[in-house]
Amino acid sequence: MKTKPYRIVMETLNIKGMMKNKHLSDAIRKQKLYEFKRQIRYKCKKYGIEFIEADKWYPSSKMCSSCGAIKKDLRLSDRTYQCECGHEMDRDLNASINLSRYELAN
Ligand SMILES: [Zn+2]
Repeated sequence: MKTKPYRIVMETLNIKGMMKNKHLSDAIRKQKLYEFKRQIRYKCKKYGIEFIEADKWYPSSKMCSSCGAIKKDLRLSDRTYQCECGHEMDRDLNASINLSRYELAN
């Protein structure tokens, strides 16, 4: 039997706000974010996987997954998360770890 996740946590992105940014709107259109979310929802329902949307103010990207500090000056161009505690990690991986703990934090 194939293993499946018991839970999927997705970030709530401010897509409407992001569409106002000319550079971001093209990328969002190409990545079909709405359609992606719709399909994830559908698959979760089909396979009995819990689907959670993290609050859009949850600082998944800005929070250090090691010490919990919030990096206020994180820029979109920063692809590596670097914390004062010495923790250094790929930005998206850091955000994913924070999202995986979302339920525990809220
Ligand atoms: Zn840290």
